[in-house]
Amino acid sequence: MFLRPEVSTDLDAEASAREQSWLDQVVAEAARNVEAGGGPFGALVVRGDEVLSTGVNQVTLTFDPTAHAEVVAIRAACLAIGDFRLTGCVLVSSCEPCPLCLSAAMWARLDRVVCTAPFEAWQRRADRIHY
Ligand SMILES: [Zn+2]
Repeated sequence: MFLRPEVSTDLDAEASAREQSWLDQVVAEAARNVEAGGGPFGALVVRGDEVLSTGVNQVTLTFDPTAHAEVVAIRAACLAIGDFRLTGCVLVSSCEPCPLCLSAAMWARLDRVVCTAPFEAWQRRADRIHY
């Protein structure tokens, strides 16, 4: 049985300084990825204070519709630790995960998902980064 990971989006009220640092990092990764021709999404997998992996959206660059930032980060974290289970880890995303990414988080058994904003809010802000 898989437990549904806790998804935190109301970070103004509850984000710790550490979580805010992670969120700043994924937003910076997303912005850099746009400059490189990719989509405006970034993600991290964190265990404790250790960043296990980073991921950016590679859908348009690799012609892979599953290469969302969160999936890329999850795949890299699993390779880094040699396990498909990411129990004890947190997925940090620049956007509320889509169904694909949330499912991947559940299959990977991540403890939590932390993201900057619901997808609708991200869409309203995305026009500023010329995607
Ligand atoms: Zn996704």
